[in-house]
Order: sequence, then C-alpha cells, then structure tokens
Amino acid sequence: MKRYARVRSAVLKGLEPIEVVVEAHIDPRSVYNDVDIIGLGDTAVKESKRRVRSALNSLGFKFPDGRVVVNLAPSDLKKEGSALDLPIAIAILCASDQLEFQDDYLILGELGLNGEVRRINGLLPILAGLDGTTKILIPQANLSEAQLVRNRSIYAFENLRDVVAFLQGMRDFPALDPLILENTTPHWDIDMADVRGQEAAKRALMVAAAGAHNVLMIGSPGSGKTMLAKRLVTILPPMTEEEILETSKIYSVAGLLPPEGYVLRRPFRSPHHSASIAALVGGGATAKPGEISLAHNGVLFLDELPEFRRDVIEALREPMENGHITVARAKATVRYPARFMLVAAQNPCPCGWYGDREHDCTCSISEIMRYNKKISGPLLDRIDIFINVPRLTYEEYRSSTSSSDSATMREKVMMARTIQLKRFAGKKIRCNAHMDGKMLREHVKLDPTCEKILEESVKALKMSARAIEKVLKVSRTIADLEASKDVKAEHLVEAIRYRQREAIP
Ligand SMILES: [Zn+2]
Repeated sequence: MKRYARVRSAVLKGLEPIEVVVEAHIDPRSVYNDVDIIGLGDTAVKESKRRVRSALNSLGFKFPDGRVVVNLAPSDLKKEGSALDLPIAIAILCASDQLEFQDDYLILGELGLNGEVRRINGLLPILAGLDGTTKILIPQANLSEAQLVRNRSIYAFENLRDVVAFLQGMRDFPALDPLILENTTPHWDIDMADVRGQEAAKRALMVAAAGAHNVLMIGSPGSGKTMLAKRLVTILPPMTEEEILETSKIYSVAGLLPPEGYVLRRPFRSPHHSASIAALVGGGATAKPGEISLAHNGVLFLDELPEFRRDVIEALREPMENGHITVARAKATVRYPARFMLVAAQNPCPCGWYGDREHDCTCSISEIMRYNKKISGPLLDRIDIFINVPRLTYEEYRSSTSSSDSATMREKVMMARTIQLKRFAGKKIRCNAHMDGKMLREHVKLDPTCEKILEESVKALKMSARAIEKVLKVSRTIADLEASKDVKAEHLVEAIRYRQREAIP
C-alpha cells in the first residue's frame, strides 16, 4: 500500500484564494483506529472526517484500517468550511490504493453522508482568483456561478462516485462552457414613476446618482422616503461586467447568490437600526461580509439614522473613506470591498411630525435638537446632499401625477457619468463625489457672479470649509447633468439648496 497521497485544494481568506495541499497518511498497523485532521481547521473541517467516512462507506469504498492522518498545509492558515471534504476523501482513496490518477487537479466540494457532492460557499472568488492553468473539480450545485469564470478547465460533479470514475478515466465529463453575459441591463419591477409627487426629491436623488453623492432624506412618516431610497438603484447605470463579478464574489462568500449564479442588479441593502457592528461591517466568528459589503456597487440605506448606535455609525468611517473594510480575526485580517452610495433617512424630530402641515409635533425644541445631534459628525461630513421630503396632503396626493420615470432619469445619470469618466480618465476616481481639493480647483471654476453667491451663502448658512467643498462638488454634477462645461449660477444655487436642512431647527 502506498500509504501516502496528496491532493490540491483551496480556501478563501476574505475574497483571496489560497491553495491548500491536503495530505493523507495511513498507518495500517496502528491499533488506534481513527482519523486525525491537523492544520488549523475549524469545526466544519473537524466534522469532515465523519462525512468522509460515511460517504466512502455508503459508496462501497473501504475506509482504511489503522490510523489516518490528514494534514492541511500551510498549517498556519485557518481553514474554514466544508469544501475540503472532497479532496480529503480523494486523498484517502489514493493513499489506500483505491484510486490512482496522473493529472494535476484542484478539488473542491462538501460531501453528504451518501456520497453526494454538495455546494460550497465562496466558490466564485476561488475560481476567479486562481491560476488559470489548473483543472478544477467542483460541485454541480455551484455550476451557475462557475460559468461566470473564463479561461479555466472546470468540471462539475453530483457525487463522489462520478468524481472517482472521472479521475480514473472511466467516464468522460465535459468541461464547463463559460457564460457570456450579453445584456447586463437589468429589469426592475419598481420604478421612480411609482412615487407620486415628490419631484424635488426625485431631482435631488438624480443629482446624487449622477455624481455618486451620499444623501440624507428628512421627512415625516409616510412621506415616501423608503420608497424613494429603494428606487435609487433603478436610476444608477447598469453594472459593468467587472462590477457584476465583484459583487457576485461577495454574494458567493455570503452564500447569497441568486439561482442564476450572479448578481446583475445593483444591490440595495437596508440593515435595521438595531444591527450589530458585525452584521453591518462584517466579521464575527465566521468573518462573513457584512451589509456594507453586500451593498458594494449599490446602495446602503440607513433608515431612522438617529436610532443607530453611535459605535455602529463610527464603524462606517473606514469603509466610507477607503471603499473597503478590514475585518480583524484571531489569526488574520481579511478585507472585503465596500464601495456604496449611502442613503440615510430620518424623521425631523422624535415624534416625527415637526414641520408637518396636518399633524402637530409634540416635541420640545430641546428634544428636537438633542435628537438631531445624535447623528455623529463624521457621518454628516460624508453627506453631500440633504433632501427634505415633505408629506403630501391627501389633496396633493390625489392631484399629483408622476412625471419622472426611472428610464429617463437613468439616461441622464449615465450621460453625466460619461462626462465624469472622461474627466477622471487615468485617475483613481470615477465620480465627482470623490474629488479632492486639488481636483475641485481644477474642475470647478467660478465666475465673479458665482463667487458672490457662494460668499453670501457661506455667511448666511454658516458653512464650514467642508460644506463649501460639498457645494462645489454637487454643483459640478448639476452642471454635468446639463452637459455644461462651466458651473453656472443656477447650478451653484441648486447645490447650495441641498445644504439646507430646512425642516430642522
Ligand atoms: Zn415632534
């Protein structure tokens, strides 16, 4: 008996695949009849020995007598999940002379007790990140996401028996054909036209979408803030193929991929205000991506912003600065992308009715001020646009028709984005919202009239230097929406309007 065999596999560290060698060694003379798995495996890996034993037995293979040691190398890397079941089974079969093959394969898959090869989380980032020369064996249940990856030889299997037959050359299985995404424009079941009235709010959201500006909506209950926020994704440009792959990788790790195997629509995530830091930014025992990474390339909606815990809001600071989040773990740190548009919403006061034309607010001025102070400075610093969303009276609601629809708004947004792509060609940023001070001076030049308007507004609204920067960025976006080379007075005036939180004392 050979007694020793090795099989290649892989695990994930964040979204980065790391190759693992699974070694099996059998000592048939040992009186100790058991399997040891060594090399920093988590509980799922430890349980692997039971699944592998059952799977081999139920398919009529012989589980070797004596002591079996399975080593997962490199040994300093923590290995999670159940994807190592199949390579462990194959290594044991080889070491006990029940299987022999020459070719070099990388093998991934969980095993059921009956020998079924089951789906694993995180396959897409492994396939997309691995060296393209390898032949890879995967679970059939992961087929749809695997099709997204090009230039790989991938073979998919439903059970261990088929894998063995394939490796022995007894049965032929075709390699997967990659899927070419022909039309990446998603279909939406919701539309901006569903929201009646609120044309000013829709306009502000279009400006936000055009320049990737973060927004805060302020309005009483029932004013339509949530409806509007949900529909923001419908006016953003369709994701590029690269963005589809980025977002799909995160959903693969989280086990949240839709049946088609990829995420075509920009994500909209709305975590509840009671969400923990781990749920929001990721991490915890399993180091899974959090809501902010699930919102990558899409919209993160924080409704009832003042109700969120301060430390949770503070945790948003790093990702909003860098577009990614680093999650610390016991043995390592993992990194997930987290570039999203933030849409926050709040009532104007604790009872919700301050400024409403029909309901009376029961809050004292000091209560209202305390409520609004709860939103921390660092987050407010990231908001470019404040949108007041007044509740329509019944009469207004009845008489209002909806004019702006998503398709029309999206077209304008895409035109403005195209201008920005040209403007920032060769630079790291893509949108006006991410301009630094130097870029602002280069791309936003004000004529004397505009200078005067700005000066007066700075005095009247007590604008900080940061607030002025935001006004200039947003005015650049408004000018882009009109394909205007220069920022004109009307663009600037509209941008200044978005700094006024009228409803709040
Ligand atoms: Zn109130």
